[in-house]
Amino acid sequence: MGTIVDLHTHVTDHWDIIRRNGKKFFGLFNNPTEIPKEILLRCSELQNSLGSSTLAAIVNFDDNRAGGLFDEIERFAESAKIDAKRKSGVLAVRFGSSTSYFIQGREIRTTKGDVLIVGNGRDFPSREPEYIFKAARGDGDSLVLIPHLGVPVIGMNLTTADKYREFIDAVDGREYADTLKVPSFTASDSHTIKHMFSKAQIFSNFNLDSPVVSLRDALKNYNKPYQCKPKQGIYEMGRHLVSSCLYTPFMLKRGILRRG
Ligand SMILES: [Zn+2]
Repeated sequence: MGTIVDLHTHVTDHWDIIRRNGKKFFGLFNNPTEIPKEILLRCSELQNSLGSSTLAAIVNFDDNRAGGLFDEIERFAESAKIDAKRKSGVLAVRFGSSTSYFIQGREIRTTKGDVLIVGNGRDFPSREPEYIFKAARGDGDSLVLIPHLGVPVIGMNLTTADKYREFIDAVDGREYADTLKVPSFTASDSHTIKHMFSKAQIFSNFNLDSPVVSLRDALKNYNKPYQCKPKQGIYEMGRHLVSSCLYTPFMLKRGILRRG
């Protein structure tokens, strides 16, 4: 039945933070003990119910969470004797009859609003959208997506998106996509494991040999949004905001948490 694709998941509030006792910290009320196992279980839960493989683009801001999670998942698979390999920037973990695919991404707060680059987790030395768009499209291994389009403070506005339309692979939201005449994408922007794939898409032909090209082609066809439980509601938005804007900065300042 194809591949369930979530092109925008953070998985955690703060990956780059550990507790003082050395235990990994995962954010407020969001602290599974075995993170890679929990991620793979979430993917297999969907695979079993729908008979599809899953692809999650794990996205970081300015920390190491995407790369860190890749390494952890790979290490866990190795220790559990699960078949896992990396190819063309994709980590493929196979259990049972399905495969969980992971690809890295980076969400960048540019001077003109948020931009999502999917394909690798590398940093860009500029926050100017034009520089980022040209660099990302120029290297050929990245998708350029616009999340939160039209959302005040964090999102790019429609006029700016229209100006850079030629660089954009897809925007979040069908209505804006129709206005701009570019493809749309639907993704979870989740900060917990259980909310991964809560909003996603189902692509029929995902090719591991050229993942970015095949994702770009798939986005050009209208892909019916896929939604599964649990949905992200007001409680989850509040939890994430309190965790990332109040609780964690306070705990860091007091030295109770430290970056690691
Ligand atoms: Zn995000």
